[in-house]
Amino acid sequence: MKDAPSSKWWGWGDPDKRFDLSLRPYFFSNLKSILKIENAPHLFPPPLEKISVPETKLDHEEILALEKILSPEGIWLSSKERITHAYGKSFRDLMRIRYGIFENIPDAILIPRSEADILRILEWAQQNKIAVIPRGGGTSVVGGVEAVSDPTQRKRVVLDMRALNRVLSISETDMIAEVETGIFGGDLETQLNQKGFSLCHFPESFQYSTLGGWIAARSAGQQSTLYGKIEDMVESLRLITPAGVVDSLPVPAAANGPDWDQLIIGSEGIFGIISRARMKLKILPQEKYYTAYLFNSFEAGMAAVQEIIRQGILPSTVRLSDSTETDFIFSLREISSAFSALLDRNMQKWFAWKGFVPHKRSLLILGLEGTLPKVKYEKAAIKKIFKHYTVFHLGSKVGNGWYRHRFENPYLRDELLGYELIVDTLETATEWGNVEHLHAAVKSAIEAAFRELEIKGVVMAHLSHLYTTGSSLYFIFLAKPHRGRALEEWTVIKRAASDTIVENGGTISHHHGVGIDHRPWIRKELGTLQLQLLRQMKKQFDPAGILNPGKLLPTENET
Ligand SMILES: Cc1cc2nc3c(=O)[nH]c(=O)nc-3n(C[C@H](O)[C@H](O)[C@H](O)COP(=O)(O)OP(=O)(O)OC[C@H]3O[C@@H](n4cnc5c(N)ncnc54)[C@H](O)[C@@H]3O)c2cc1C
Repeated sequence: MKDAPSSKWWGWGDPDKRFDLSLRPYFFSNLKSILKIENAPHLFPPPLEKISVPETKLDHEEILALEKILSPEGIWLSSKERITHAYGKSFRDLMRIRYGIFENIPDAILIPRSEADILRILEWAQQNKIAVIPRGGGTSVVGGVEAVSDPTQRKRVVLDMRALNRVLSISETDMIAEVETGIFGGDLETQLNQKGFSLCHFPESFQYSTLGGWIAARSAGQQSTLYGKIEDMVESLRLITPAGVVDSLPVPAAANGPDWDQLIIGSEGIFGIISRARMKLKILPQEKYYTAYLFNSFEAGMAAVQEIIRQGILPSTVRLSDSTETDFIFSLREISSAFSALLDRNMQKWFAWKGFVPHKRSLLILGLEGTLPKVKYEKAAIKKIFKHYTVFHLGSKVGNGWYRHRFENPYLRDELLGYELIVDTLETATEWGNVEHLHAAVKSAIEAAFRELEIKGVVMAHLSHLYTTGSSLYFIFLAKPHRGRALEEWTVIKRAASDTIVENGGTISHHHGVGIDHRPWIRKELGTLQLQLLRQMKKQFDPAGILNPGKLLPTENET
């Protein structure tokens, strides 16, 4: 079995990597002055061995039964494994770790090696009324992997998919790969690339998340404008439920009733375990062109990128930052010498003189991928569209810089959490006619929450994942809470933003999913009949209600 990539249990990614704030003095001094940060970092994750962990609630007989199914190597009971499988990677998860709050620690981690193992585990769990929490990479940012249980199940096990990680076949004729879903993004992509193919699905969490997690949470990659979300990439899948195994038909399209796969994709582990999927492949793009532009306003940038999509051009990446995010990204550049700092200041003056003023300008990262003639044609067409706007071509150095560092930003969050800052993201989607309104409404709701809480904060956003009919909007907010109150104050901000999203024509999530955190807004978003149907499907697949309790479906008092 290929090992899962090692990652920090208390933060993001490679344990040997960190985001060096000292290389970005402009960024940090800017942030410090906005948030009035005076203190040095003071909030650190506790040593793993000092955390007190309750005894597993599984009794001797239950452990023996599990050993029969999995062999002793397939059951992890150590405190270390139980703690490191307790949470995902949301702000709430990582802040609870730093505050030393460990809730819902699972009783065991189970490592199935085959689909037969999964079936037997589900049968055992159903008989014993034990909650089963499916887990891929554990990068959920909505509480999707937390081992909560309902009152009928005091015991909880995590079903960790890491050992089901084989690429079973790659068909060059059908352009399909059949893959076990515990495979991590990097491993899958390497194996596909060796055959000249790619899945072309690159979420920011790519290296640490799995195919199963992507499908179960309806993920979107950074190149989704061209290649689609994960739901566009699945041809068929296998779902293992306590009631039996369901396979969807491996055909490119069918008119055999509602789309089966689309009822399973996004089910967040509450119906069953997605054990394998037949994924649609793309030929590795011959050309990748990444570049950057500066618009004189976010509104102008929005009109320009909308025009690109209207004309049928699908860039791989469109990331258009509002003015606050643009200024932050400018300040994030690495400054290595006094000379470059001077050059920087002159450049800034020049931009302002040309009309690209701070607090107004808008940065666009644009990616084009495909064959050489296609990319060439698209470049020319976009140039023609941009002639109608006040826009400056920053060039491919900036675009390539973004592309090279596209998986690095999550490391910054860990540094800022050390200062006990609230650092979180929100994402939604809406139709074009509503994008500007929703952007303004969510920003002002978050700013109002900062005022209500009497804390300093900043909120920024970008458009990404574009469609002919609309776009996703991605918000980032940073705030300095009162000491020891980051979690309560985060809840107030999150509630204000989420209420505003659903009241103003957005979806509660474009690609992070529902999990625990978005559950209170699901009833409003789906309505009674749709929810009843979901509940009936859950009952059909999982009559004892053992699978991933507390996720996706609202609780009684939320409905
Ligand atoms: C820094 C960071 C950046 C991120 N960037 C992106 C991004 O760009 N785009 C994006 O879409 N998301 C992003 N995410 C969110 C997260 O990575 C995605 O939701 C991802 O799809 C989760 O994959 P995972 O393997 O980690 O799944 P997990 O977190 O382990 O699980 C996610 C959900 O799926 C269920 N599940 C997992 N595997 C299975 C299975 N085989 N069968 C049934 N249910 C299963 C779990 O129970 C849980 O409900 C980001 C998260 C972080 C922390």
